[in-house]
Amino acid sequence: MTTAIVWLRQDLRLADNPALYHACRTCDHIIPLFIDDPLPTSVSQLGAASRAWLHHSLQDLDTRLQAIGNRLTLQQGAALPILQKLIATTGATHVYWNRVYDPQSLARDKHLKEALKPSCAVHSFNASLLNEPWEVLKADSTPYKVFTPFWKAMLKHGIQHLPLPLPERIPALPLQPESLPLETLGLLPHIRWDTGMMAHWQVGEEAAMQKLHDFLPTHGGAYKEARNFPAQPGTARLSPHLHFGEISPRQAVYHTERHLAEQPGAENGLRHFMQEIGWREFAYYLLYHFPHTVERALDARFDHFPWADDYTDVLERWQRGQTGFPIIDAGMRELWQTGWMHNRVRMIVASLLTKNLLVPWQVGEQWFRDTLVDADLASNVLGWQWVAGCGADAAPYFRIFNPTLQGQTFDPDGEYIRRWIPELQTRDYPSPIMDLKASRERALAKFSQIKQ
Ligand code: FAD
Repeated sequence: MTTAIVWLRQDLRLADNPALYHACRTCDHIIPLFIDDPLPTSVSQLGAASRAWLHHSLQDLDTRLQAIGNRLTLQQGAALPILQKLIATTGATHVYWNRVYDPQSLARDKHLKEALKPSCAVHSFNASLLNEPWEVLKADSTPYKVFTPFWKAMLKHGIQHLPLPLPERIPALPLQPESLPLETLGLLPHIRWDTGMMAHWQVGEEAAMQKLHDFLPTHGGAYKEARNFPAQPGTARLSPHLHFGEISPRQAVYHTERHLAEQPGAENGLRHFMQEIGWREFAYYLLYHFPHTVERALDARFDHFPWADDYTDVLERWQRGQTGFPIIDAGMRELWQTGWMHNRVRMIVASLLTKNLLVPWQVGEQWFRDTLVDADLASNVLGWQWVAGCGADAAPYFRIFNPTLQGQTFDPDGEYIRRWIPELQTRDYPSPIMDLKASRERALAKFSQIKQ
């Protein structure tokens, strides 16, 4: 009888989970394991909103496993000793996991593979990307830095594997290993501010798939245009589910293609939707090939950019949604209350912070990391560097979003701003944090210096 440990990380689902699927086909007993390990990019470093999401996601996964006679084993501490102890106490001979692509996790996993090899067979898979980041390269074998040729090459390469089905059985060990109660991971805040935020979401694998199936027929066809209007439910809101791996990008693309075959009229919208999933792919690709971008701009000229020195007050007003620019404040309050912000508004608030206020992009990235339920190292870094004009395929430095014009264009009836700023109806709303024209000119002068 063989036993396999399936170490789950950012793949909190049972279907289309290659590690789980192959373990179930090969071994007699399966130990689904989740470790709260202290690696700088793992659970202990997650922002507060993401930790709350993770709590519910782990709970959902455990419930699903218990329904079929297994359960999630929860452990806390460094991964290697935990795995070694579990191997010793259960006699497991195989360890399966799906790859995580941030630089520190990749280094840790490489080390773990070597360390576990003498006692165990270790198997790793791709479960969170359409293709591996090293599979699509330019003709000269260097990585793409511009999205459009990257995405064209990716489409030409094709998606190599179809989503995998649910394993037929996930048999538990007769004597299941010890597990910590979920509460001991302390993922929920002491003061339960998260209940309001989580009321906006249904967490877990089934909810994610349902959301995709609700989105495709109702908003898929109009996605290309509607995705820019924050008052409308024009986007899929799948980002936290994709981040935690409750649904895979392969599942999303596969079901979108199937829907397209039945509704060819939705072609424009749905191709664009898949392209946005391509942006997620591009973010992971860049993080893999340029790991230093976690902290530093991809464009090295920004290493010495003259950001503002003292920005404490303006930062606080931006964080609290008190800048006096309604579209900005609506976005920052949507973020605070729901853990999510519409993409168009993310771009506008990031532009105000990094350009008009000259606050380093890392500061904004950190705030998003703490407050987004979909906070994702790769996509967040890409988003911030793109807006700040210092990343790959960045918005040109002279593109400085004008929050007033953006509001008029993308929230023409003011529905979005009224939803999040009730005091707009009264006089009790702050005056603008800075002069738009002067701050724009100041930013242009600084950015044009560096670009020369
Ligand atoms: P949809 O429009 O329905 O798109 C479907 C999926 O495609 C998304 O769920 C997401 O996984 C992916 N996607 C869409 N747009 C992008 C994009 N521009 N970059 C990368 N992936 C994309 N996304 C995150 O998942 N986590 C982050 O931490 C994050 N930080 C961002 C920071 C900034 C400054 C900006 C400008 C964008 C950021 N994004 C981030 C990208 C984007 O805003 C969100 O993915 C999107 O708003 C999620 O909503 P949705 O699921 O309704 O997207």
